[in-house]
Amino acid sequence: MAERLLDIRHLDAGYSGVPVVRDLTMHVEAGEIVALLGPNGAGKTTTLLTASGLLPVIGGEVDVFGAPVGARPAHRVAREGLAHVLEDRSLFTSMTVEENLLVGAGADANTIRRAFDYFPALEPIRSRRAGLLSGGEQQMLAIARVITGAPRLLMIDEMSLGLAPIIVERLLPVIRRIVDETGAGVLLIEQHVHLALGIADRGYVLAHGTVTMSGTGAELRANRHRLRDSYLGGSGH
Ligand code: ATP
Repeated sequence: MAERLLDIRHLDAGYSGVPVVRDLTMHVEAGEIVALLGPNGAGKTTTLLTASGLLPVIGGEVDVFGAPVGARPAHRVAREGLAHVLEDRSLFTSMTVEENLLVGAGADANTIRRAFDYFPALEPIRSRRAGLLSGGEQQMLAIARVITGAPRLLMIDEMSLGLAPIIVERLLPVIRRIVDETGAGVLLIEQHVHLALGIADRGYVLAHGTVTMSGTGAELRANRHRLRDSYLGGSGH
């Protein structure tokens, strides 16, 4: 059986001790892409922040790499192989593409080569400042930055925020390739539901802080009507 990288059991999570996520149970194994879906405000970002140790667990359990996430500082969990691409992409906008790639601990020429191998579009713009890149280029750079650290578990929040569907369609296969080549697990928050389910091995749908549906990508796709209902007229397709 594949290693369970993230194991969330009956999680209550939220802000100032008030849960917005309730009784959430989900997991991510090595070598799989798991989509976390649901309308705005459903609790997806809260779940990711709690799984990275950036928000405290209010109730239930969150294990990352087999140990409770809260038992060690977030930077240590990061060193053990948890990478988190935040919604704002966290780039150094006044630095070049290449400089952004070299900021990470242990980054070297090899790091740059790997990044350009996954995202060839970044190579011709390696000397351009990150703040001048298009949204799609910035997202490629944000993902390239974290994967150069060879993460075992990669969590990506709103990968497609502000991006055209065509760009998302190009990015998702790269995520698949990273997973297939490195054996990492990926937890992906994605608003383009049909694109996400085309690539995800499994998915969970959240509404009002609880899981309303879960299954393989194919099962969720086959259940389009229920899936659409769980968005209650939200932005999902
Ligand atoms: P979105 O796509 O809008 O980011 P989401 O599914 O990621 O949606 P969350 O950001 O996790 O949802 O928000 C879940 C709930 O928590 C919402 O009701 C939101 O208003 C609330 N919330 C988010 N951030 C905070 C905060 N810093 N303090 C208090 N409440 C918050």
